[in-house]
Amino acid sequence: MRSFDIAVIGGGASGLAAAINAKRTSPGSSAAIIERLPRTGKKILATGNGRCNLSNVDLSPDNYSGTCKEFIKRTSGFSVTDFFMSLGVICESDSAGRIYPRSHSAASVLDALRLECSRLGVEEICGLEISGIDRNNVSDRMMLAVKASDDIISAKRIILAGGGMSQPALGSNGSLLGICKALGIKTIPAYPALVPLMTDPKLVKPLKGQRADANVVFCANGKGIKSIRGEVQFTDGLVSGICVFDLSHLYELYKNSECELRMDLLPDISRKAVRELLLNLRQIRSYASTDDYLSGIFTRPLGIYVLKRALGNCPELTKDIDDRMIDKTVATLKSLSFPVTGTAGYERSQITGGGIVAEELRENFEFRKIKGLYACGELLDICGQCGGYNLDFAFSSGALAGKSAASDLLGRQ
Ligand SMILES: Cc1cc2nc3c(=O)[nH]c(=O)nc-3n(C[C@H](O)[C@H](O)[C@H](O)COP(=O)(O)OP(=O)(O)OC[C@H]3O[C@@H](n4cnc5c(N)ncnc54)[C@H](O)[C@@H]3O)c2cc1C
Repeated sequence: MRSFDIAVIGGGASGLAAAINAKRTSPGSSAAIIERLPRTGKKILATGNGRCNLSNVDLSPDNYSGTCKEFIKRTSGFSVTDFFMSLGVICESDSAGRIYPRSHSAASVLDALRLECSRLGVEEICGLEISGIDRNNVSDRMMLAVKASDDIISAKRIILAGGGMSQPALGSNGSLLGICKALGIKTIPAYPALVPLMTDPKLVKPLKGQRADANVVFCANGKGIKSIRGEVQFTDGLVSGICVFDLSHLYELYKNSECELRMDLLPDISRKAVRELLLNLRQIRSYASTDDYLSGIFTRPLGIYVLKRALGNCPELTKDIDDRMIDKTVATLKSLSFPVTGTAGYERSQITGGGIVAEELRENFEFRKIKGLYACGELLDICGQCGGYNLDFAFSSGALAGKSAASDLLGRQ
C-alpha cells in the first residue's frame, strides 16, 4: 500500500493545477497524481486546435450553464494568466478576448505544468485507473481501492479531477462520475455539450462543406430559446460551428420537444431591404439561370439550396421568378430551418454537461457529506461556452481545490 498526504485522481488540466497548488501551499506534504492514461495532460494537447485557448478576458457566470455556474464568482478571483506566468508561460489575448499562450502551443502549456509538478516533487502514477473510494476501514485516512492491480493507495485528502465523458480517447471516460454516484453524491446525468447537432441528412446533404455567416436560433416547439451569431458549417448530417456548439447544450434540456435551428442568413439586413435586394437582383440577372440568381450574396451551392428550399421547383430563368416567389425566398433565407434530431455524441463533444451538483460542494470545493474529499473541473455540473471558459474553470477550480485540501491538512481552516 502506498500512502500520500494528498492524492489527485485525474491528470488533466484541473488535476495538474490542483497538485501544483496543493504542493505550493504545503511543500512538506506528499502529493500524487493518479492518471489512467500512460501520461498526464493528453487532452490539453488537443485544445484550441493545438493552440490551447486557456482563458478569456470576460469571465462571468453568464458564459456558463449548469448548477455550478455561480462558482465562477469564486474562481474568477484566481487569475489563470497569473498562474501560467508563475510557470513561465506568457499569455496574450486576441481581439475576441480569448487568451492563449504566446507560443500558441498547447505543448508548451503542458510542459510548464509537468515541469512544475516535477520541481515540486509531485509523484505521477500513470496507467492506473481508480475504481472506487473505500470510506470504511479508515481512521483519519481515506482509502482508494485500485482495481487494476488490487493496489491500494491511501491519502489523507483526495481531490477528484476525472473530467467528464467527452472524447474518451483523450482520457475522460466518466468513471469518476460512477464512483461519485456509488458514494451517494448527487449528480445530473451526463450529456455531450459543445458538440455538432444532428439533422435530417437528406436536408443537409446538398450543403456538405458549405459555411455561412448566420444568426442561429435554437427553437423548441416553435419557440425561440436562444440565438447566437456566427459561422455555421454543414457536414454529413450535422450542423456545426462555434455558434452551434454554444447552443448545443440546449438539446439536452429540450430533447422531448420538437427542436430546430432557424438561421437568418442575412442578419444585418431587414426583411424589407432583403426584398428590395432580391427585386433588384431579378432585374440585374434577368436572363441568367436561377442557379446564379443568389450567387452574388451566397456561395453558388448555398444560393441554389435556398431557392430550392423556398420554391421547390424553380423556373429556369431568373426573369420568371415572380413577386410571390421572391416573398417566399425572403422568408426562407431569413429563417432557414433544420430539425435537430440529436447530437454527434461524446466522441465529437468538447465537454460533458451534467455531473456533480452545486449543493454537494462547500465554498472550498470540499464535499459537504465527505470530509477530506474534494472535486474540481469538468466533473462538476458546469458547461462553459467556447472561448477558453472551460479550461479556465478547470485550472482555477483545480487550483482552489488543491489549495483548500493542503490548507485543511495544515490545519489552517
Ligand atoms: C478537442 C478539444 C478541444 C478543446 N479545446 C478547448 C479550448 O481551447 N479551451 C477551453 O477552454 N476548453 C477546451 N476544451 C475543453 C477542456 O479541454 C476541458 O473542459 C478540460 O480539459 C477539462 O479538464 P479536467 O481536468 O476537468 O478533465 P480532463 O481534461 O478530461 O482530465 C481528466 C483526467 O482524469 C483521468 N481519469 C478519469 N477517470 C480516471 C480514473 N478513474 N482513474 C485515473 N484517472 C482518471 C483522465 O484520463 C484524464 O486525463 C476542449 C476539449 C476538447 C475535447
